[in-house]
Amino acid sequence: MSDTRHHGSCLCGDVELEVELDLTKGSRCNCTVCTKLGVTGSIVKPAAFTLLSPESTLSSHTRTPEIGHRYFCARCHVFCFSKGRLAELGGDFVSVNLNCIDGFDVTRTELSFWDGRHDNWNAGPRPTPWPIAS
Ligand SMILES: [Zn+2]
Repeated sequence: MSDTRHHGSCLCGDVELEVELDLTKGSRCNCTVCTKLGVTGSIVKPAAFTLLSPESTLSSHTRTPEIGHRYFCARCHVFCFSKGRLAELGGDFVSVNLNCIDGFDVTRTELSFWDGRHDNWNAGPRPTPWPIAS
């Protein structure tokens, strides 16, 4: 399936976004934040992503400012997307939380796994999970 435009939102609806991606492929990451959030994500180029709501609807958090920031709805606190820059991911990227895509059953996506916990971005995504322990 090729990339298609999808609408996404947080729980309360303050944050709305549009993103062009292939929903048949998602990824999970073992980093501390993705583990806590239970994120199934998809990484796209910034051009494929549009934030439809004002920036004022967002709050943000980062543990690795050199890589990027995560954006949450400032009202309902659902994690919607992150934005950053990482050479191993091809430079600027947006990672969208697929749980925010409206009407999408995230269990239908084929998962691949990143080893973000060990900054092992060069390894790329693989079909089986990476360990949490070092
Ligand atoms: Zn919200």
